Amino acid sequence: MNKSKDFLRRIVEEDLKTGKYQEIVTRFPPEPNGFPHIGHAKSISINFGIAQDYNGHCNLRMDDTNPTTEDTQYVEALKDAVEWLGFKWEGDVRYTSDYFDRLYSYAITLIKMGKAYVDSLSEEEIREYRGTVTQAGKRSSYANRSVEENLDLLERMKNGEFKEGEHILRAKIDMSSPNMKMRDPLLYRIRHAQHFRTGDKWAIYPMYDFAHCLSDYIEGVTHSICTLEFENNREIYDWVLDTLGLEPPRPYQHEFARLGINYTVMSKRKLLELVEKKVVTGWDDPRMPTIAGLRRRGYTPESILNFCESIGIAKANSMVDVAQLEFAIRDDLNTKVPRVMCVMHPLKVTIENYEGTEEIEASYYPHDVPKEGSRKLPFSKEIYIDRADFSEHPAKGYFRLTPDQSVRLKYAYIITCKEIIKDSEGNILEIKATYHPDSKSGEDSSGIKVKSAIQWVEASSAKKVEIRLYDRLFKNEAPEGIDDINPDSLSVITNALIEPAVITNKPDERFQFEREGYFYADPELYTDDTPVFNKIVALKDSWGKKKKAPNKAPEAKKVQIDGEVVPMTAEEQVLFDTYTKAYKLNSEVANTLARDAKLSSFYTEALAAYHSPVSIANIVANEVARELKTQEIDALKFSPAQIATLMRLVDEETISNKIAKGVFEQMLKSGDDPSKIVESQGLIQISDPAEILPIIDEVVANNPDNLAKFKAGNTKLLGFFVGQVLKATGGKANPKVVNTLVAEKLG
Ligand code: ATP
Ligand code: MG
Repeated sequence: MNKSKDFLRRIVEEDLKTGKYQEIVTRFPPEPNGFPHIGHAKSISINFGIAQDYNGHCNLRMDDTNPTTEDTQYVEALKDAVEWLGFKWEGDVRYTSDYFDRLYSYAITLIKMGKAYVDSLSEEEIREYRGTVTQAGKRSSYANRSVEENLDLLERMKNGEFKEGEHILRAKIDMSSPNMKMRDPLLYRIRHAQHFRTGDKWAIYPMYDFAHCLSDYIEGVTHSICTLEFENNREIYDWVLDTLGLEPPRPYQHEFARLGINYTVMSKRKLLELVEKKVVTGWDDPRMPTIAGLRRRGYTPESILNFCESIGIAKANSMVDVAQLEFAIRDDLNTKVPRVMCVMHPLKVTIENYEGTEEIEASYYPHDVPKEGSRKLPFSKEIYIDRADFSEHPAKGYFRLTPDQSVRLKYAYIITCKEIIKDSEGNILEIKATYHPDSKSGEDSSGIKVKSAIQWVEASSAKKVEIRLYDRLFKNEAPEGIDDINPDSLSVITNALIEPAVITNKPDERFQFEREGYFYADPELYTDDTPVFNKIVALKDSWGKKKKAPNKAPEAKKVQIDGEVVPMTAEEQVLFDTYTKAYKLNSEVANTLARDAKLSSFYTEALAAYHSPVSIANIVANEVARELKTQEIDALKFSPAQIATLMRLVDEETISNKIAKGVFEQMLKSGDDPSKIVESQGLIQISDPAEILPIIDEVVANNPDNLAKFKAGNTKLLGFFVGQVLKATGGKANPKVVNTLVAEKLG
């Protein structure tokens, strides 16, 4: 295998070379609290893939430390997903709960070393004592408890003598550490809940930061690969393992960027809500970004692995266009699956000059696919074509059957329309046509020119099938969850007709329905009586897309400029329409961009680097446009790609919009990369409520008058409090998070 090495594989190679480890051991450590999604597929492909590439092994470990949300059905789904993707875990499935006894004894060791203590502050106090990013915390006075008292309390916590929240076990590290996570992190909490494996044996459960590193160690994991949000937890990971002085070798944590895909949510919690509220039919609804959903939709394991590989492994979070996932399945199926004919919206055609029947040999694979295979298509005087393939009053550029234009029936003959039969309301019921006997595909001597070939089925042998067409589950590019659901994500066609060869095929087969897309027999719904096919993905450049574009040229939009209306050129108009319709820009921004060739090309280039149409449009139409008034585009110190990076940082909430403006000013002058500016100046946005809440408390405490006014009904003061909090963090706090937290705090 000769793929270019990602940074994780480079680390692994180095560790093997230096003899740090003899064998590579990784693990995939999901919490069994939901079905795995495409983001997990990425983690699976990294962990199992690396183990495979370096002849090591990978464990599957259920991180089951939160009894209230976990369940065996999720364990099964996780096992299924890993197996379906083609991987094998080492030995049995492992569970963090298998290590509860050992973890507990490690906790006792820490207590005996004076490195852990039972704290009895309330949750509120713990937060308060933790301090802020700018202020050291202070240690709880309970930290002075003797070793004996701590041991006694922990045991009684374990035995269920206390209420939840009454006590908590904490590591004794550093209450003034610049890394807030290191300010005496929590190790164990009390939970009176039934655990799906250990029942009610335990009334305490280890926290992630304690359980994860030790479970890795217990399993002999060498490379503990996780997503970026755990970067600050790495210090605890190391502290626990080092403080306990465990026998080497020990694992080390390495972080990579989690996968985000536009038009998708990727959080089990949010996906669970869709399931529970029955917005979808279940975790395996073909619209879900779960592995079970993609599988039922018809995605192949290869396509998902190829997708994961194609997006690479990065150290900075980014948003991947869902089109890339769609590309991966198309690319996989293109040469693999047979091409057959299905008529979605049947329109009867009677070929008046045809008598009898025949069978026409038709290849399952087009000429450029090096695969053999064909079937016999029945043919007779009664056939069905798609309603969309006939037009009585065709628009310009319509190449299919019309009263004046013949068309080829794919693999068969050319037909010509003779008569249109309509009902009393003018709906077309049937077409009477004639065929040209000497026009048969492959032996055509008719000399008739046609502009296209359409799919068809023979009436008496065709089978009725149900087709399920899927659109994106979410209507906007960066959905938050259930409120952004696309109400039209599923449409069902109940009376499509398919050629007979398809329904006699084995299950788990995929097809290309010519000119329609790729389809998969739904494994749950398909029966012999009602065959149900899921549309996996459309064909590239399908007619469907073009059809959606307006047939007639849109009316030119008039825009007011300096008191007079200057009409757009045709090209500008096309841009304007794309911007407003496809990209959903407001007309003012779209107008600015469309009318300026320099801006629009800058915009296009930036979008190619990162497809976030709205946010990039705003900065290009405002800040970039402002610069271009005084200098030439070549003289700009920043590139479209850098603007894309800047907006990506905003979209991912790494920095706020406000900070982005400041970064932009610096890019203007220095031409430095935005990521570099953000990193070197520590501008990363603060989104962790644990860091923000104490600041809110401070601001509220310092403004008793305004608080009183707010409570008395002056709700406008909410903005005041939010502003103060943002100011106190030097603009670094995430405004959205601050808003929510302040609103919650002030109730
Ligand atoms: P979610 O937020 O969806 O519940 P999670 O991170 O809590 O996900 P876990 O079950 O704890 O889910 O994750 C198991 C492993 O999968 C972890 O190592 C985690 O880092 C990884 N993972 C989860 N989501 C993604 C993602 N979007 N991209 C890459 N890896 C992911
Ligand atoms: Mg989680």
